[in-house]
Amino acid sequence: MFNKNKTAILVVDMLNDFVTGALKCDRGLATIEPNRKLIEAAHKAGVKVIFCNDAHVKDVDHELKLWGDHAIAGTKGAEVIPELKPTDADYIVPKRRYSGFFHTDLDLLLKELGVENVIMTGLHTHMCVRHTSADAYCLGYNIYVAKEATDSFTKEDYEYGLKYLKEVYGAVVLSVDEIIEEFKK
Ligand code: ZN
Repeated sequence: MFNKNKTAILVVDMLNDFVTGALKCDRGLATIEPNRKLIEAAHKAGVKVIFCNDAHVKDVDHELKLWGDHAIAGTKGAEVIPELKPTDADYIVPKRRYSGFFHTDLDLLLKELGVENVIMTGLHTHMCVRHTSADAYCLGYNIYVAKEATDSFTKEDYEYGLKYLKEVYGAVVLSVDEIIEEFKK
């Protein structure tokens, strides 16, 4: 289905503030184990894992007016949750907007790694995952979504997010197990 050597997982905002902190999300808790399992399989298969992390500048970032303070750069809330702690093999791309591409070096990194396909996971399906997918699509990447490894505050927003990703960016939605099977090929 995809060449794993040209594929990276983009783990969006699986940070303390998004899971258990300032913007905590109960549905997000259920995405921890699927993400852990997927990342473990990626490490075994040599698939790149890139964490796209909110790292906001306090009192400056536009988005904080809408959502309140969260994931302020350098704070505990802006760190990846302990269950998914990045390894030396992983990459971290700090971002200050919804999209992991907006004014970051994510596109440069993906190009240098030879990546053509991105597998989206993390929070929230209809916001940061969607905005990151929008830019990935515009930049020519093929988009896959790990179904149980992403979620939103509500089931409605999650389902809306998936529908939008499929219809507008041609995203292929797969289960974590289906993706892991692809990694074994
Ligand atoms: Zn944010």
